[in-house]
Amino acid sequence: MTQPANVSMPSAPLSLLAPVDGVLVALEEVPDPVFSGRLMGDGVAIDPTGTLLSAPCAGTVVQLHRAKHALTLRTDSGVSVLLHIGLDTVTLAGSGFTPQVKEGDRVAAGQALIEFDLDAIAQNALSALTMMIVTEGAQHFTFKHAAGLVKGSADEVLRFGAESHEPTAPAGTGELVQSEALFIVNPNGLHARPAAQLVTWAKRFQSRITLHKGQASAAATSVTEIMALDLARGDQISLSARGHDAKEALAALKSVIASGLGEDLGKAPPVSSTRKFVSSSADVLGGVAAAPGVAIGRTKVRAFEVPQFETRSTRPVEEQQKLRRAIAAAELELKAAQAVFEQKDETEKAQIFAAHAALLGDDAFERDATFTIRDGASAPAAWQAVIADRSATLAALNSPLMRQRADDLRDVGHRVLLKVLGLANPVTSYEKGTVLVCDELTPSDVADLDPAVVVALVTRHGGSTSHAAIIARSLGVPYVAGLGDALEKLASGSEVIVDGDQGFVRLNPAAAEVEQAKGEILRRDQLRVERLGRAYQPARTSDGRRVEIGANIGSAKEATQAVEQGADGVGLLRSEFLFMNRRWAPSEDEQRAQFELIGKTLGGGRTLVVRTLDVGGDKPLSYMPIAPEENPFLGIRGLRLSLRYPELFAAQVRAILAAAPHTQLQVMFPMVASLQEFRAAKACFVEEMQKARIAPNLVSLGIMVEVPSAALLADAFANEVDFFSIGTNDLTQYTLAMDRGHAELAASADALDPAVLRLIAMTVQAAHAKKRWVGVCGGLAAELLATPLLVGLDIDELSVPSPSIPELKAAVRGLNHVACRKLASEALQLGSAAQVRALLSNFKTEETRGQS
Ligand code: PEP
Ligand code: MG
Repeated sequence: MTQPANVSMPSAPLSLLAPVDGVLVALEEVPDPVFSGRLMGDGVAIDPTGTLLSAPCAGTVVQLHRAKHALTLRTDSGVSVLLHIGLDTVTLAGSGFTPQVKEGDRVAAGQALIEFDLDAIAQNALSALTMMIVTEGAQHFTFKHAAGLVKGSADEVLRFGAESHEPTAPAGTGELVQSEALFIVNPNGLHARPAAQLVTWAKRFQSRITLHKGQASAAATSVTEIMALDLARGDQISLSARGHDAKEALAALKSVIASGLGEDLGKAPPVSSTRKFVSSSADVLGGVAAAPGVAIGRTKVRAFEVPQFETRSTRPVEEQQKLRRAIAAAELELKAAQAVFEQKDETEKAQIFAAHAALLGDDAFERDATFTIRDGASAPAAWQAVIADRSATLAALNSPLMRQRADDLRDVGHRVLLKVLGLANPVTSYEKGTVLVCDELTPSDVADLDPAVVVALVTRHGGSTSHAAIIARSLGVPYVAGLGDALEKLASGSEVIVDGDQGFVRLNPAAAEVEQAKGEILRRDQLRVERLGRAYQPARTSDGRRVEIGANIGSAKEATQAVEQGADGVGLLRSEFLFMNRRWAPSEDEQRAQFELIGKTLGGGRTLVVRTLDVGGDKPLSYMPIAPEENPFLGIRGLRLSLRYPELFAAQVRAILAAAPHTQLQVMFPMVASLQEFRAAKACFVEEMQKARIAPNLVSLGIMVEVPSAALLADAFANEVDFFSIGTNDLTQYTLAMDRGHAELAASADALDPAVLRLIAMTVQAAHAKKRWVGVCGGLAAELLATPLLVGLDIDELSVPSPSIPELKAAVRGLNHVACRKLASEALQLGSAAQVRALLSNFKTEETRGQS
């Protein structure tokens, strides 16, 4: 039998035992970005209950840290495993740690390595969490224990090597089924999160599934193999599967890949499958599609210059102080940049600077540089050496993501270097229409760029998951990364076309190509403008069914954005925005002012659906204390909490009513599980309306359908409420008993599960029988794949984040209600979310075919 392409010939499988007794914790939860961001590699963390660190496998101790809290083992097959006891334990300088081995010792699996004083660590360090990280040599591993208690030296927690490729079921037999070409739609390509989602889906099937990109392939069950394909947005791939459920597997995977594997696809334009305006030639320089869009401009090559400095010094104390001051100044600068972007609501940029500040917060850099300074190096030389060493280690790891974290480190390192040398950050000014060309683009570079001047970016290094790429996308600047040595062809002043969708640069384009590119730019602008222009008109299907498209907002500023994007109204105002992140409740006047402002912004021609306070449980407020709960999602939250604080609730009700004179006010209650709750809340409203002399029919009252009981009792509710708005995020979590924030369950907590769909259908049927309208304001409303289904289920209103409105309206206009109804009745008969997704993506394909 021939081996399928993705299976490497087995080397001996290797297991890693738990290195200590304790409770397994996901690496993401470790409160240190170096570990949670997997900067060192992948692995596990254990909250220790024992006090002995033992060898997870046989090997040689290649490094024992001088602070005795960490060591690295290397196996004979070249796999390196870092064992790190606690966080910030380096500061204990060896106190509380008793090594049982020394560097160079060979150890057997289970052999004692370091004894430690757990109490002392718990009292003096940030955390006792102990990490086991595979830093080198392992390509594929399987997590044997996902959570729970583990016994040191006994329980196997990781396994890697040939084993992870072995089929677990009768895979590999039967006909090989192949998919047609698919395209990656995720803005960042398949980086760790979507790759992990893909693996979760692939593991649901017994068949052996392989991803193909050109000649390269990867097992769909291996995150590391998928990431090694370095799949960028727009990349063409195909799938193959062999096994008894191969066809079903491919249908489901095609659908989840097409829908972005659970990622917010944002404003990215659709991925096209053909290069539109250039033929292949030596002047077409291929790279990675890092930010979409097409631009024409003239190149400006920027060399990344390392300033000159003395490398030796005889004044170590001075040098050390210089370095310390530089690090502190750089950290302050990064935090200030973070605050500026936070104020501007530019969260992605703020997060990048926060991550850079966190990198600088790692004392290990300064400590290592200090050792070099003591050996006679100057502060800049010592710092450069540490950054070069660490970033080279990261860059050498077999992961695109790690390599890009190395870019972050170099960026932060350069910032500190300039400070040590007393140099200002270089200020760059460019001519309008510049295509900036450089070796690597630092995130700080991109944050400073003016998209009105720099029309595109091209770099030698980097990829689609870098922070720079994220920022370029948010600025709407096309970016082609990873050109390699082909970059040398781009001298300053050359005319180029940059295609950030397909990842190439066309040097010296012919006049016809420029014209075609101009046409493409114009077409996109027109499409955007056209959709936006039409967004102000109602959305009707081709056979005339009107679907209201509302906005989900959380502030007065977002109300303005909703109007600009063509919202028919606000379908969900999350009123908790006024209550969060503060030490006491907002006054009634403060609340009133905000509701009035939002009401006036929307005006009399639009509806405003305000949801009353939805906090408590997992979103506690310090000024509304609730006893600790074991299951906060099932505790005092939403309306339950409001009813326990009648004064506060009544004040909110009065403030909300202040919007009534300015707009079409509707109010709904979150997390309603019973009729009694609705009646109690309504009573409060009626009382306040009477006091304010507001006619009872001026404000309609509804409920959110987020708890299955509300859907099951929809016919009873329909006698008393004016409308229903379905919160698919919570409805899915409560229907499937899956925490909506649970990393491992995220892919399974799918709102397209037929169980959730049946509850939606039930609600609509009951509501329409009593002439009540039904909206959907959960995340499913913004998923374009689901639009035909929701329209077919006769949903009256879809409420989504404002930027999605023009595209959603365009999508509704492309539908036929009768066909959608047929589709919905088929979907309701299916047995899994995967089948529903497959049905919907086929529907979409057929529709597209019908239009062409
Ligand atoms: C929902 O649950 O779907 C919803 C819209 O409410 P939130 O996401 O604010 O809980
Ligand atoms: Mg909710």
